[in-house]
Amino acid sequence: MPELPEVQTVINILQDNITNETISGVRVLYPGILHDTTVATLEQELPHQVIKGFRRMGKYLIFLLSKGSLIVHLRMEGKFYILPKDAQVEKHVHIIIDFESEKSLHYHDVRKFGTFTYLSTNEFEAISAYPMLGKLGKDANENWEEDELYKLIHDKKAPIKAVLLDQSIIAGLGNIYVNEVCYLAKVHPLRLASSISKEEANKLSFYAKKVLDEAIFYGGTTIRSYTSSLGVTGRFQQFLHVHGKAGEECSVCSTEIIKLKVSGRGTYICPNCQILKPKVVAITGGIATGKSTIVQLLREAGLQVWAADEEVDLLYQKPAVIEEVARRFPEVCVDGIINRKGLGKIIFTDPQARKDLEAIIHPFVYEALDEWIKEQQKEKFVFVDIPLLYETNREKSFDEVIVVSVPLDINVKRLMARDGIDEQYAMKKIIVQMPLPEKAAKADYVIDNAGSIVDTAQQLNKILQKIRR
Ligand SMILES: [Zn+2]
Repeated sequence: MPELPEVQTVINILQDNITNETISGVRVLYPGILHDTTVATLEQELPHQVIKGFRRMGKYLIFLLSKGSLIVHLRMEGKFYILPKDAQVEKHVHIIIDFESEKSLHYHDVRKFGTFTYLSTNEFEAISAYPMLGKLGKDANENWEEDELYKLIHDKKAPIKAVLLDQSIIAGLGNIYVNEVCYLAKVHPLRLASSISKEEANKLSFYAKKVLDEAIFYGGTTIRSYTSSLGVTGRFQQFLHVHGKAGEECSVCSTEIIKLKVSGRGTYICPNCQILKPKVVAITGGIATGKSTIVQLLREAGLQVWAADEEVDLLYQKPAVIEEVARRFPEVCVDGIINRKGLGKIIFTDPQARKDLEAIIHPFVYEALDEWIKEQQKEKFVFVDIPLLYETNREKSFDEVIVVSVPLDINVKRLMARDGIDEQYAMKKIIVQMPLPEKAAKADYVIDNAGSIVDTAQQLNKILQKIRR
């Protein structure tokens, strides 16, 4: 079936070959191909009109004429041929448009699913308001703003693949290109659209445009069900990553590519790069706001929680991490052991040292998190405790965020008690982080942890009910 790049390729060739041609007549051999248009209308309106140019909306081809316009959809197997006027009419040719120059445009369609519609306007705005075209979403090949696709899909409880194929949400993506886009964005096609994070949605729209641009550049994809005629053979099939490649190796991780059925369509994925992941809820707060209480309550309720601080403790025992830290901070490394208290003092007073340490540690932390999430495919939702979520700009990687907050005076007192430090030092430690009210304003849920543990547990239970929905 022709997809957007093939349609664009057909348009580019028609543009080069029949722009400025004057129509001399039309021969309708199979009227069933006409949609909302009669043979008489075409015979009456088309002669003497000049082809002014072409536009594409989704997978519709629009012929802009001197007075009206012709809207064509190729569906499964529609093809155009430009031939001399006296050329033999092949089987399965349903419409022929003749030009004064002695050229003719033959429309060939074995399955007869294609459609032709004549409109009496050539104003693009009026054409795009035509009911059939008006249902098209934004063209996948246009530039997408950050979070623009996310806003269109985040309330859809259908597999992301079905949503991307829905032309009323995003126009122009067919089966081949959705398979490629999901692979490049590392999204499993069966994931619910509502579970796609902003970061993932931004990757999907980025790769949708990139893949389509490249496919148009190479003249589309030629696979057995469709050849684009007009003497063109697309070459994009040489650049496909997963489509039609079951049994071959993923070029990223060498895992064998497998074929599934999603919404009745042949779907190709790398089962290692594209995983079915649970909803991931991040928990964050500030220093000494009581996140560990929340983690404990969740674990007592039998829920899966991954805590960044626990991971960091493990990381400082890994030779690869010790080696990198020791290279940057030799003064705190003795006999292959990192003095973490000493390290803490250095980074607290030296912002550049903090940045350097984070640059070493964070990639290890997030790699460990990705691995952990891959192991949680059976869970519906899991929790991730990340102290510096907003400071490190990672909030878009998560489906929802809970901020654990306490008023400043209580926060200072708790930190003084916890670390045995004076008020001034506690205050200093708190103000280097983003203020709690600012974090609370960005969060999906806020727990006020100033009261009793019973009070906190009640707030958490209410949030869990919403997350389960
Ligand atoms: Zn892979």
